[in-house]
Amino acid sequence: MSFDRHQYQRIVVLTGAGISVASGLHTYRGPDGVWAAHDVERLGHARALAESPQDTWRLFGGMRGPIAQARPNAAHRALARWEAELRPGQQLLLVTQNVDGLHQAAGSRHVCELHGNVMLTRCSNPDCDLPPFEDLAPHTEAVPRCPRCGSVLRPDIVLFGEPLPLQALWQVDRALRDCDLFLAIGTSGLVDPAASLVRYAAQAGARTVFMNLEPLVPPNPAFQETVLGRAETVLPAWLGWPE
Ligand SMILES: [Zn+2]
Repeated sequence: MSFDRHQYQRIVVLTGAGISVASGLHTYRGPDGVWAAHDVERLGHARALAESPQDTWRLFGGMRGPIAQARPNAAHRALARWEAELRPGQQLLLVTQNVDGLHQAAGSRHVCELHGNVMLTRCSNPDCDLPPFEDLAPHTEAVPRCPRCGSVLRPDIVLFGEPLPLQALWQVDRALRDCDLFLAIGTSGLVDPAASLVRYAAQAGARTVFMNLEPLVPPNPAFQETVLGRAETVLPAWLGWPE
């Protein structure tokens, strides 16, 4: 089922880990391979940063090497092309749960990173004025310290137990208020943020589409349509650009 992409004025796209699988990225891949879910929740929690920041870096620093090697796939490129070919008056906000920066690498400009970007490092001291900076070093062996205040440095991502960034939430909230097309790609449609976002979009009267490898079980009635398949195949086809 394709559609006329010029028919919509206020488009919100939400992407999750499923869109980056074809780029060779799995959600959490440390130096020892894929982390077990319980390790991710323990080592990726804000408590671990406070008590044992080396564990935080072992988990997330280990993702930097694979991400630095990864390239955007056809799904990332299709979203960037969609944005580049918008007509006057059309707006597209790309909201992502991914921390890999591949949307920007593909050329998307209007990207809202709900969970931050793991390729950036920042100071853990909220009163410090060190700006986040690009950092390819994994820091899996030694915890880096802030050159300005001496506090522990951390990856610039949202850890378990931390709130989502307010500025990002405001941006999403504003975009959803008059949204007329909402598309979720490669993310669970039953848990947040997708579940809340699609509900707001449906309340605004948007057409709502769920695009994923697997169907939603149980279905989420806020999604009017489901497109099943690999994002890198079905998204370009849906937009009218099969590769
Ligand atoms: Zn600092």
